[in-house]
Amino acid sequence: MPGSGLEALDRATLIHPTLSGNTAERIVLTSGSGSRVRDTDGREYLDASAVLGVTQVGHGRAELARVAAEQMARLEYFHTWGTISNDRAVELAARLVGLSPEPLTRVYFTSGGAEGNEIALRMARLYHHRRGESARTWILSRRSAYHGVGYGSGGVTGFPAYHQGFGPSLPDVDFLTPPQPYRRELFAGSDVTDFCLAELRETIDRIGPERIAAMIGEPIMGAVGAAAPPADYWPRVAELLHSYGILLISDEVITGYGRTGHWFAADHFGVVPDIMVTAKGITSGYVPHGAVLTTEAVADEVVGDQGFPAGFTYSGHATACAVALANLDIIERENLLDNASTVGAYLGKRLAELSDLPIVGDVRQTGLMLGVELVADRGTREPLPGAAVAEALRERAGILLRANGNALIVNPPLIFTQEDADELVAGLRSVLARTRPDGRVL
Ligand code: PMP
Repeated sequence: MPGSGLEALDRATLIHPTLSGNTAERIVLTSGSGSRVRDTDGREYLDASAVLGVTQVGHGRAELARVAAEQMARLEYFHTWGTISNDRAVELAARLVGLSPEPLTRVYFTSGGAEGNEIALRMARLYHHRRGESARTWILSRRSAYHGVGYGSGGVTGFPAYHQGFGPSLPDVDFLTPPQPYRRELFAGSDVTDFCLAELRETIDRIGPERIAAMIGEPIMGAVGAAAPPADYWPRVAELLHSYGILLISDEVITGYGRTGHWFAADHFGVVPDIMVTAKGITSGYVPHGAVLTTEAVADEVVGDQGFPAGFTYSGHATACAVALANLDIIERENLLDNASTVGAYLGKRLAELSDLPIVGDVRQTGLMLGVELVADRGTREPLPGAAVAEALRERAGILLRANGNALIVNPPLIFTQEDADELVAGLRSVLARTRPDGRVL
């Protein structure tokens, strides 16, 4: 980048999410194909995070570019407010209903995940209000949950940094313990699900079930590195919530569209939510898009006689919908769900081999959603920050991978091959072998 001019221009103009200070070198990407992207110096990187768990079909698909161009030339976009619709939005809605668990029959389109969660929260509260239960305003979430940076979605995000300094957060939100089995200190020696269920029951009693609208959760927690709950967690949570008339909102923004080897993680856990929020993989990120699916029962209430007073300018964007349809075609045609299962299992096994290194605490895998927790000490499981590891991996091995806290977040494109997996594991081994217990890389 130095010399390209773009780095200096970036420094002068662009505000980057999560970048602190303004001295760090910029990596200015200009092209990509398959699981690789290239920067202004022509350096190639292996994209081991599918950007941010988005690019299911990989980069540089000319087919999607063609579909977008054709759609733009025909009808780029029109809103879907009131009685106006468009052919692509209807086709995509029907397609999503066909792919998703049976009771989810109604679709609301957004431009991304945070917007989807805003809509889900509005739907949940309005559903109860229209049924005459206006006191049901509380939303239950979990610490370490990530749901986006809108007022509502940020309000239910369980990381303190997303709240501090921003003034009052969304009111009537309560945070529960995240079901992260490796973080045994959270459960006071109890079974993870038993502990979480007892806490959920106590919380419902404390707030009062007649005041709770919904619980929101990611089926597998992405921001802490693919932390899957025990198999009985979601079925038992859903049963308890439904016994009190509390809605379950499943945030499938990362887990949706094949990442877990199923179309949705709901298929993996066998639990159907009342509202399911999706984005990212719906278009593989070629254009921003998202979809919220819900049941007839919820949709009937929030539409009702008065309509659903929540509309985005770009809801049902024709070009985004056309690209989503073509993206789903590719996922189906190339059997990418199967690839996510087989290459995911292979990568999980290969990453687990890194456990001979003392700083590798836990390796987790569901399909191509994987995470590695780094620890300073295996006995105490004290977290070891992963930022320097991710940085060294990029510089020395040409691999792009995100770290959040002590978690390495491994969400490769669903086209990932065993050779890609081997390259990733070799790069990781060489960097982790040089990583000290304080997180610095020698
Ligand atoms: N929910 C989850 C589970 C996510 O992973 C993300 C994004 N990483 C979001 C919501 C927010 O999506 P967006 O950035 O598209 O608003």
